[in-house]
Amino acid sequence: MILLISDLHLEEERPDITRAFLDLLAGRARSASALYILGDFFEAWIGDDAMTPFQLSICQALRELSDSGTAIFLMHGNRDFMLGQVFCKQAGCTLLKDPSVVPFNGEPVLLMHGDSLCTRDEAYMKLRRYLRNPITLFILRHLPLRTRHKLARKLRSESRAQTRMKANDIVDVTPEEIPRIMQEYGVKTLIHGHTHRPAIHKLQIGDKAARRIVLGDWDRQGWALQVDDSGYALAPFDFAPPPQLAAPTA
Ligand code: MN
Repeated sequence: MILLISDLHLEEERPDITRAFLDLLAGRARSASALYILGDFFEAWIGDDAMTPFQLSICQALRELSDSGTAIFLMHGNRDFMLGQVFCKQAGCTLLKDPSVVPFNGEPVLLMHGDSLCTRDEAYMKLRRYLRNPITLFILRHLPLRTRHKLARKLRSESRAQTRMKANDIVDVTPEEIPRIMQEYGVKTLIHGHTHRPAIHKLQIGDKAARRIVLGDWDRQGWALQVDDSGYALAPFDFAPPPQLAAPTA
């Protein structure tokens, strides 16, 4: 059994999401042969050299899962594209290129974060090309921490403001981009996150049946896609209620 998740947007300010993720790692993920995290795992990441105690605790929890025998694959999202090999090595994860083709149930499946499918958002695509350029990344990684924090805050607030302003269909995937990229990689199944619109879309590519599975973001509830012999099952799950305050003993 394989599990796929994305868009947890982990941050210290959301202990409910963090706990739900740690529960998944200690529970369901233990019986999985592999866990795929398809981007925007962290809400923000300014460099492996600037890990907070919170981020280190997540790293440690991943390590425990990988030590228990579950392979962990991590893909960058638009929020955590600075996540690097130091973190992955420490967490026992393998960094996956976006896009990547993997075999599930003997079928090649295309995995992506999904932001690169939103080609109608030209301003974002331009920014993306700039930020993912190896030279830009090299410069970003060598900026002082304070500058990196400032830049990350600026990028996040600009992205929030622009997403509110942009039309709905601009921040969703470009419909024509889906069959194009699936044909380019020769797959009948595409799995991605990013848009926060979880669904299994049935498609027709040429004369063949195909599907696009969109993972859900973790906010009010969690989402996971399970792949096993019986196929693909995408389902939400509730977060556990917050721990009860201890009753006074006297
Ligand atoms: Mn995203």
